[in-house]
Amino acid sequence: MKGLSKSFGDLEVLKNINMEIEKGKVVTIMGPSGSGKTTLLRCLNALEEPTTGEFHFEDGFHVNFNQKLKKQDLLTLRRKSGMVFQSYNLFPHKTALENVTEGPLVVQKRDQQAVIEQAKRLLTKVGLQDKMDLYPYQLSGGQQQRVGIARALAIEPELMLFDEPTSALDPELVGDVLNVIKELANEGWTMAVVTHEVQFATEVSDHVIFMDGGYIVEQGTPQKVLTNPREERTQQFLQRIL
Ligand code: ATP
Repeated sequence: MKGLSKSFGDLEVLKNINMEIEKGKVVTIMGPSGSGKTTLLRCLNALEEPTTGEFHFEDGFHVNFNQKLKKQDLLTLRRKSGMVFQSYNLFPHKTALENVTEGPLVVQKRDQQAVIEQAKRLLTKVGLQDKMDLYPYQLSGGQQQRVGIARALAIEPELMLFDEPTSALDPELVGDVLNVIKELANEGWTMAVVTHEVQFATEVSDHVIFMDGGYIVEQGTPQKVLTNPREERTQQFLQRIL
């Protein structure tokens, strides 16, 4: 990602962001409320269109937001990543299984039988083999979020994006969801995770980005950014949340 910026009207919420997410690596994004973390993920997923900047992918695909974006490029970009939202964003009138099959069937138009089998495998992987036919209101927050993870995996993305995936959960449900994300990291998924969970970030990340006021203030290994932060703003933030 080169020179990315994003404004909403006069408000510039991302300012000259330069970052790299290496294949098979986990990047954690931390920072105070309003620093632009969610907007950054939404730009990566093309839910928001950046104002300026470029994305370059290893396979040669690139988009330049300084020029008018082609619709096909937007669709290609959108298919590269799967997003897991803070508030789950499941379809309330669909079962867990139907939530997972929706994207592959309706958007990707893949073979129905194969999609159903894959969805069952993914729901089993996240520990919901007994809950496939239940509706979101019949599931706990942690279970709903695990459906959200299975749903993002089902579109077979190159990159998994997690936006504060545990911040809406009761404390006793956080561990199950973090364990699923850790397992994905161990399997070699490429991931960008916005989180306030410092211990989790220390254990799982290859690279940590600390943002404030729309800028990347500091980035590097978890040891560098979380254990021995150089910048005062990072130090203050960590003191507040630890
Ligand atoms: P939090 O940790 O509270 O989720 P964040 O770091 O994810 O915060 P963002 O949600 O990216 O921050 O918001 C960054 C800034 O952009 C905020 O000032 C927010 O009000 C503003 N913003 C976000 N989305 C929009 C929008 N659609 N229209 C206008 N302003 C927006």
